[in-house]
Amino acid sequence: MNNILDFTLLELKAWFKNQNESEYRAKQVFDFIYRNVWDFDDMNNIPITIRKKLNEAFYIGIPKVVEIYESSDKNTTKYLLMFNDGNVIETVTMKYTYGYSICLSTQVGCRMGCKFCASTVNGMVKNLTSGEILAEILAVEKIIGTRISNVVLMGSGEPLDNFNNVIKFINIVNADYSLNIGQRHITLSTCGIVPKIKEIADMKMQITLAISLHAANDELRKNIMPISNKYSIKELIDICKYYTEKTNRRITFEYSLIKEINDREENAIELSNLLKGTLCHVNLIPVNKVTDNTFEKSTKESIIIFSNILNKFGIQNTVRREMGTDINAACGQLRRKYIELKGDNRGE
Ligand code: SAH
Repeated sequence: MNNILDFTLLELKAWFKNQNESEYRAKQVFDFIYRNVWDFDDMNNIPITIRKKLNEAFYIGIPKVVEIYESSDKNTTKYLLMFNDGNVIETVTMKYTYGYSICLSTQVGCRMGCKFCASTVNGMVKNLTSGEILAEILAVEKIIGTRISNVVLMGSGEPLDNFNNVIKFINIVNADYSLNIGQRHITLSTCGIVPKIKEIADMKMQITLAISLHAANDELRKNIMPISNKYSIKELIDICKYYTEKTNRRITFEYSLIKEINDREENAIELSNLLKGTLCHVNLIPVNKVTDNTFEKSTKESIIIFSNILNKFGIQNTVRREMGTDINAACGQLRRKYIELKGDNRGE
């Protein structure tokens, strides 16, 4: 059985053709699904014989909502979702004045091994398919009763380590038969898999690219992000420049501030020198302490000093509001807690 959410309109049309049925049925079925009708038998303008075929060939892979946590200010909500294979993932919504933004997981777990991140502690279980990523949005939209306007691929997992499924997801979520979310409303965050960044640059996508940098020299970055053993900071910055040349898009650099590791004045100066001349914005994020890791959040004072140094060098930056720390909203923290309680890597 296939998850119908993994299909593009073209693919579903081909399936109908194969069944000797009219191709326009594909659009009818998707119209139902994207209006939250998730049972083929409720699709009243589809003949019963076709519904039967659909039921035999497909399932509609919407995950079950296992738990919902709301932050005290009610602006951040975290959903623990379970797919029918028993895998549990996290999805977070953030309410802004312009609407809802959703932070999606792209893998169950992660294999990148960043030292400060909870998602990677138990390794990677599997890549999510394009339909599973999409279903995170559908499941949440049904609960909140409104459309999501912005998508960030910044939940558990490394999107560029699941390249084909993530690109397919972006193309589907972007399509007018689906959720019609514009590429400029989609942000993809990566720890920096250089050849894959080149591929998206060459596709001339209009998404926003966010790079998790967290250190401005290789020695320090290697200590906290194993991916640095593969690609140097120079290679990373060069490919970012290439990305901007190809797409005219400004790049976001994420920099999590870790007390006395990467938050000193000299680190800020080094970062400024590194980013001088790139079209970019820096997000400074006080690191979220993950249980049993040793990293501590920078002090408020050192964050202000760090930000001011960047300003002095003309590097645009914002200190990101910490949304949802009271509900463990940082990457992978909730799933991890859930797994610890249930004692199984899948979380079932
Ligand atoms: N793998 C992708 C996307 C997932 S991580 C990436 O690396 O970008 C999303 C963001 O959260 C990254 O910038 C990551 O570095 C950051 N992050 C992960 N754990 C964190 C923590 N404990 N505190 C602060 N930021 C964290």
